[in-house]
Amino acid sequence: MPAQTRISPRCSMHVLVTGGAGFIGSHLCALLLGRGDQVICVDDLSTGSKSNIERLTENPAFEFHEADVSAGLEIEGTVSAVVHLASPASPPDYHRLPLETLAVGSRGTENALRLAHHHGARFVLASTSEIYGDPLMHPQREEYWGNVNPIGPRSVYDEAKRFAEAITVAYRRTLGVDTGVIRIFNTYGPRMRPHDGRVVTSFITQALNGDPLTIYGDGSQTRSFCYVDDLIRGIVAMIDSSEPGPVNLGNPNERTVAELAELVSAVTGTRSPIEFHPLPTDDPTRRRPDITKALTTLDWSPRVDIEDGLRRTVEWFRSRPEEVAAAAAAVAGGQCDNLFPEYQEQL
Ligand code: NAD
Ligand code: UDP
Repeated sequence: MPAQTRISPRCSMHVLVTGGAGFIGSHLCALLLGRGDQVICVDDLSTGSKSNIERLTENPAFEFHEADVSAGLEIEGTVSAVVHLASPASPPDYHRLPLETLAVGSRGTENALRLAHHHGARFVLASTSEIYGDPLMHPQREEYWGNVNPIGPRSVYDEAKRFAEAITVAYRRTLGVDTGVIRIFNTYGPRMRPHDGRVVTSFITQALNGDPLTIYGDGSQTRSFCYVDDLIRGIVAMIDSSEPGPVNLGNPNERTVAELAELVSAVTGTRSPIEFHPLPTDDPTRRRPDITKALTTLDWSPRVDIEDGLRRTVEWFRSRPEEVAAAAAAVAGGQCDNLFPEYQEQL
C-alpha cells in the first residue's frame, strides 16, 4: 500500500478538493479560485488529468499534490473545508478499478473525514444518484432508501458511496464534524474524457467521428442530465452552508437515452446511424431527481437547458479533434456487452 502523504501548504487557509484534477473537481477548483479561496487539489490521476488543471497551476493560490487519498493524508496549516470528490465515476472506470473504487469510497472517505475533524473543517461528500440503484420511487426524493444489488457489477461503486454516506453521517453524529452530503445526478460538460464511456461523451465522440451512436438496450431507459456549471454552483452552496443533507443536485429534465441520441445528432449535425447493443447488467431503468430540498435549503436550481449544455460541450470536443479521433475505438460500442460473464452465469 502507498505511504501516507504529508502536505505543507504555502498558504494558511485552504479548501481541500480530493479528486480535483477530474472532470467535476477541476471546474470546482476553478470556481473556488475565482472567488478568492486558496485551493489544495489532491488527486492520484487514476481517472483525472494534469491537463484539466494546467491553467490553474499558474495561480499562486492553487496547489496540486499527486497522492492517493485512500493511503492517508495530513495537511499542515488551516483547512476550512474538505470536498471529497475522489472516486472513479464512469461505469467503465469503476469496472476497471473495482478495488480502488471500494477503497476510496471507504478508507479514502474516512481519511478525508479525519482530516476535516482534525482541522474543524466543513466536509462535503460527493455522493451519487447511484445510491438509489434501480429506483422504485420516481422521481427520487432524499427520503428514498434505494434499490441496490449489493453483489452486482455496479455494487463496487454504489455500495462504496452508500458506505461513504454512512460514515459521513457517523462522523457528524459521533464526533460533531460539520458534514454535508450531496447526491449528484448525471452531469456533463467540457473536460469529460472523450473515451470515458459515459453516454454523453460516447455519443458526442461517435457523432463527431461519424461512427454509429451505440444505444444500450432499446434506449427507453432515462437519465436527467445536468450541465457542469449548474452542478458546481450547487456544490459551492453546499460548502458555504451548514446543511447536513443529503441533498439531490441534478437537472430534473428527464430524457430517454434514445432522445439523448437524437439531441446529440441534432446539435452535431451528424448523419451517424444508431446501433443497438445489449443493456449492461443492473442498468437503472430511470432517474430523475426531486430537487425541492436543494431549492429550499440551498436556494439552488439548474439554469442551463440540455440543448445549450450540449452545444457548449460539443464545441469543447470539436476543439480537440485529435483526442476525439483517438477515442473512437474505446467508444466503438459493445464495451459493456461481455462484462462479468462469470456473474451472469451465477444468475
Ligand atoms: P472523474 O473520474 O473525472 O474524477 C474523479 C477524480 O478522482 C479523478 O481526477 C481521479 O484521478 C481522482 N481519484 C480517484 N481515486 C482517487 C484516489 N484514491 N485518490 C486521489 N484521487 C483519486 O469523475 P467526475 O465525474 O469528476 O466525478 C467526481 C465525483 O463526483 C466522484 O466522486 C463521483 O462519484 C461523483 N459523481 C459524479 C457524477 C457525474 O455525472 N459526473 C454523478 C454522480 C456522482
Ligand atoms: N449508454 C448507452 N450507450 C453508451 C453508453 C451508455 O446507451 O454508449 C446508456 C447506459 O446503458 C445507461 C445510460 O446510457 O443506461 C447512462 O449511462 P452512463 O454510463 O452515462 O451513466 P450511468 O449509467 O452511470 O447513469
